[in-house]
Amino acid sequence: MAFTADMHDDIEEILITGEALQARVAELARVIAEEYRGKDLILLGILRGAIMFMADLARQLAMPLDMDFMAITSYGNSTESSGVVRILKDLDEPIEGKHVLIVEDIIDTGLTLRYLMENLERRNPASLAVCTLLDKEKARDRDKVIEPAYIGFQIPDRFVVGYGLDYAQKYRNLPYIGVLKPSVYQGE
Ligand code: 5GP
Repeated sequence: MAFTADMHDDIEEILITGEALQARVAELARVIAEEYRGKDLILLGILRGAIMFMADLARQLAMPLDMDFMAITSYGNSTESSGVVRILKDLDEPIEGKHVLIVEDIIDTGLTLRYLMENLERRNPASLAVCTLLDKEKARDRDKVIEPAYIGFQIPDRFVVGYGLDYAQKYRNLPYIGVLKPSVYQGE
């Protein structure tokens, strides 16, 4: 696997610019602030993909809230969904009686989140909802297994990187959402 020194050179196409991301995150925050006004809210970020979205979303919310994180396995280093889900890092705080908003980077089949939500429901939160930055269109038509309450962008069924999303753990620090050049995958 060969990574170019300048990450931007590995990007074939920018799907969502940094400006568009920031504008949409601000819109989502306005709706969420309205919905959760006066409620005991926990933003639950799913590591590692949701870190950029979580950080920007939290900074757009002027209300008091808690931030916690979970890490679960998803894709590994491949671009195919494995369907295998395992908790690598659990929450630090109990969520019983709290309003939990899961902050996720992207929903493809929804299998990862369905498993997670079943697990979290058993801990008796006051409410449990999902805010995903990206939602893949094709998978939704097929057999999407969960309905996010908040969606940043619907995107085509392509493998994307940037703004928290990785390929082989790289590209998370790109400030936009983009599609890699095929040459990056070659030799894998
Ligand atoms: P699902 O269980 O919904 O099929 O897969 C969700 C997880 O797969 C996401 O949390 C993310 O880690 C990974 N994933 C799905 N699509 C993409 C993609 O286009 N790019 C990257 N980097 N990860 C993806």
